[in-house]
Amino acid sequence: MNILVVATKNKGKYLEFKKILGCTRFEMVSLSDFPHIKIHETGSSFDENALLKANAVVKNTGFPALADDSGLEVSALQGSPGIFTARYAGENATDEDNIKKLLSEMKDIPSNQRQARFVCSLALVFPDKKVFLERGILEGYITFKPRGIGGFGYDPIFFVPALGRTLSEVSIDDKNRISHRAKALEKIKRHFSYI
Ligand code: IMP
Repeated sequence: MNILVVATKNKGKYLEFKKILGCTRFEMVSLSDFPHIKIHETGSSFDENALLKANAVVKNTGFPALADDSGLEVSALQGSPGIFTARYAGENATDEDNIKKLLSEMKDIPSNQRQARFVCSLALVFPDKKVFLERGILEGYITFKPRGIGGFGYDPIFFVPALGRTLSEVSIDDKNRISHRAKALEKIKRHFSYI
């Protein structure tokens, strides 16, 4: 069976990928199986970072690789935090720090101007240099206060009109049906037949 390296050390993300892809053509392994590989996200867009990670893994392992980069774009902040989503409040910022900073930046923005979207770029790269790039987007609004206890990251302040709730107030299965990552994974799935 062919090996596919999922370019993440985050166990939750790796399991989410496995669950959504339900891949049978490949045996999936994660970057935790290749601890010597260090990747710096130096790209200037989600696409560039996803490609940079997938290419580095292919180069270091010789196996096909799947890498993602994701984040939040807020319209009223001209697309910020964007590629800085994970470190919005500083290098070692926690989810709470990031949420606090975003709510503070947006404190004077009225409810009808709080549109935001989660973006996920996924790069699938093969050792023969064949590259596939796909994006998934989830549209929503930033709330004024955190709501709910589930999920991670910015979920407590991301309100999805179609669900009438924040992402922290819905089940993981409900989130996985509509999320930016799930949409990008569904699109990238089509390219697995390339091998
Ligand atoms: P990365 O793609 O793992 O670098 O994630 C970037 C940052 O975006 C994470 O640290 C999260 O804070 C945020 N993020 C990405 N996807 C989600 C999501 O589904 N819910 C909440 N926050 C997310």
